[in-house]
Amino acid sequence: MDFTLNEEQRMWQSAVHDFVSREVKPKAKEVDETGEFNWAAAKKMVQLGLLALNIPEAYGGPGVDAVSAAIAIEELGWGCGSTALAVAAHNGLGTTPLAQWGSEELKQRYLVPIASGSAKLAALALTEPGAGSDLKGGVLTKAEKQGDEWVINGNKMWCTNAGIADYIVTLARTIELGFSLILVPVDTPGLYIAPPEKKMGLKGSPTHAVTYEDVRVPRANLIGEEGQGLHYTFTTLDGGRISIGALSVGLARAALEEALAYAKQREAFGKPIANFQAIQWMLADAATEIEAARLLVYRAAYLKEQEKDFSQAAAMAKLFASEMAERVCRNAIQVHGGYGYSQEYPVERMYRDARLMTIGEGTSEIQRMVIARKLVE
Ligand SMILES: Cc1cc2nc3c(=O)[nH]c(=O)nc-3n(C[C@H](O)[C@H](O)[C@H](O)COP(=O)(O)OP(=O)(O)OC[C@H]3O[C@@H](n4cnc5c(N)ncnc54)[C@H](O)[C@@H]3O)c2cc1C
Repeated sequence: MDFTLNEEQRMWQSAVHDFVSREVKPKAKEVDETGEFNWAAAKKMVQLGLLALNIPEAYGGPGVDAVSAAIAIEELGWGCGSTALAVAAHNGLGTTPLAQWGSEELKQRYLVPIASGSAKLAALALTEPGAGSDLKGGVLTKAEKQGDEWVINGNKMWCTNAGIADYIVTLARTIELGFSLILVPVDTPGLYIAPPEKKMGLKGSPTHAVTYEDVRVPRANLIGEEGQGLHYTFTTLDGGRISIGALSVGLARAALEEALAYAKQREAFGKPIANFQAIQWMLADAATEIEAARLLVYRAAYLKEQEKDFSQAAAMAKLFASEMAERVCRNAIQVHGGYGYSQEYPVERMYRDARLMTIGEGTSEIQRMVIARKLVE
């Protein structure tokens, strides 16, 4: 039993775990092989509120706290990296700006259908072909006011969920040196979503380039205040980093389970390889680091829930958990020997999926910058 959680959180964890065991984990291999997002599971997630983790109860959300949201993403990560990333990006990136700063009209029109299950997913487009870590210096997408509309032109890259979303929250330059977030429905003329990128892993989490050619949306689609787009973006990313940390813990946990089971049944030199100290130390390190990463994730989520400054805590959680997941998945392959390198065993997929976690939503280098900035300020 996890003493860091209260009764309600433990019940939630158990409910999500049961759901993921039934609907998500058994499909993870197929999702990876076909590259198809697991819509069947996503539709059933609505009942638990997994697609509305950051949507307030007033708009149909389940009303779970930030630690519970992290618990859900960890369980999803344990089940399937692809499905977990799509759901994490939908909640953490796609719905959060709307839930936090969107107008009543936008919330009613876009969040309520998501919570009730009549809508698809949500996406956030920040990154561009020439700008990822340095959004302020590099984002070129522009939105200009014309009458009652914004006219948007530009190119975005690596937009998770664009092809399975109803809308894309888009970061654009709107005033001199200023940025804004604007909600763009995916059926708006002039918006082109490229086919999914061919990636190393997370193949069932579609990632797209998006082009905006004279895309016209109502002025009312502005999220929050004009000129606040970067502030909203960085606050959104702080929360998203807790999710990526949680997802990393889930992936690592799954890899450790596989390594442990394999080590107990595989024999060499007349005994199970789990009896060898070299193997035991890999398993011991993995178990220890997973616990440490989870506590960092819970700590960041707790601070967020308390409405304290959680920016550095989220960066620490994401940095440690994502680098830990890569090590644990790497060693899980090592424990499997040659079989670990085969697609027959899930650790190969987990390793590929884990690789993204040190890159998306701010690279490890950017997390270290965020952490260090707070240290030296
Ligand atoms: C599968 C996937 C899904 C994604 N989903 C989304 C999404 O939904 N929405 C979205 O907007 N973006 C998304 N991204 C983009 C992702 O956030 C960026 O790839 C990431 O922020 C890095 O940006 P970049 O790729 O432009 O790398 P760059 O910024 O060009 O960085 C290249 C290298 O330089 C390093 N670097 C850069 N600046 C510094 C510095 N000051 N000090 C030290 N090192 C530095 C980086 O750490 C990195 O190692 C996704 C990416 C992938 C691969």
